[in-house]
Order: sequence, then structure tokens, then C-alpha cells
Amino acid sequence: MKLFKIISFIFIGTLFLSFKPLTNPVFIKGQVKRNPKENSGYVEYVAVFVKGGNKVLAKTVTDDKGNFELSFTPEKENSFDFFCNAVGIDTMLLASIKAFESDTAEMTFFIPREPKRNKLGRVVCPKCNRPDMVYKIVYGDNPIVVRHISNSGDTTYSPLYKGTYQESCTVQPARYYCDRDKVKF
Ligand SMILES: [Zn+2]
Repeated sequence: MKLFKIISFIFIGTLFLSFKPLTNPVFIKGQVKRNPKENSGYVEYVAVFVKGGNKVLAKTVTDDKGNFELSFTPEKENSFDFFCNAVGIDTMLLASIKAFESDTAEMTFFIPREPKRNKLGRVVCPKCNRPDMVYKIVYGDNPIVVRHISNSGDTTYSPLYKGTYQESCTVQPARYYCDRDKVKF
């Protein structure tokens, strides 16, 4: 009987270890706030989602005060990109982080985020941390669309014009666009 107990103890122990996940789930308690310096955007019932690689890891919707909770299990993602979208808010990047220091995190995001600038005063992208492909978004009644004709004769249209990203007249909270990561922020 004693031997049986020992064997079952080892068996259960092995079973437990073999099912141990590679990494722990992360629980995020977050809040989306309006950037007080901007007059567009809102935080109620906004979809918030986190992407790692090209995969959506978790998705939720804020409550009437901009609060949300997200939970997912990180694997080997290079970064975790937090996005939001809603009616009148095209998908925009709120933050990009490389790793979580603990398995519970409290996070506050601003819509739109306060732009981070480098030493030269140029706005850097929250994802690639570089300024060289960042364009200021210009909202207007007649956005200029630039036609590009490639060597093979293919025509493409680009909203990038004279260092700006041309957007139609409905003013959205996004202020910048990174052409490297194809994200608005
Ligand atoms: Zn970028």
C-alpha cells in the first residue's frame, strides 16, 4: 500500500510537470484615456487588442469609463503591440512593448498617444523607435493621392505626399503614420 502511494505520487508529479505551460499567462488591467491635448477620440466601448507577430493574442472592449482587462499567454513574440479601433477611429497603435516584467500589469494608454521624440525633435514610431519613415497625418477635404508607376508599368496610389500622410476630412485621433510598420498612432 505504501509503495502504491509513492508510485501514484511520482505519477501525479510527472503529470503535473509535463503539463506546466512554457510561460505564464499575463493579466492586464488597463485604462484608455483621452489625450487632454487633443480634441478628437473617445474611450467608451473601444475595441482594444494586442498583437504578437501577426497574430491577435487577445481582444476586448472598454467599458463606459475606458477600463478593460486582457489576458493571454506570451510565447516567443518579439513585441506586443496594443491597438484600438472603434467607429471613427481607424486601427491605431497605442503602445508596443518588448516584454512583461511580471504576469500582472497595469497599463494606461492615451488616445492618441503622446508622441515620443528623439533628440532632434523628430517623432519616433512606437514600434520601430525610429523617425525616418514617420509621416504626419494631414486631414483635409481633398486629400492628395500620389500616383506611382513602377518600371513594369503597374500603377499604385499612395497617401504619402511631401512628407505627410494624406487622410480624408473626417478628423481621427491618429496623428502620425509609420510606413515601415504600416501603423497609425
Ligand atoms: Zn515604425
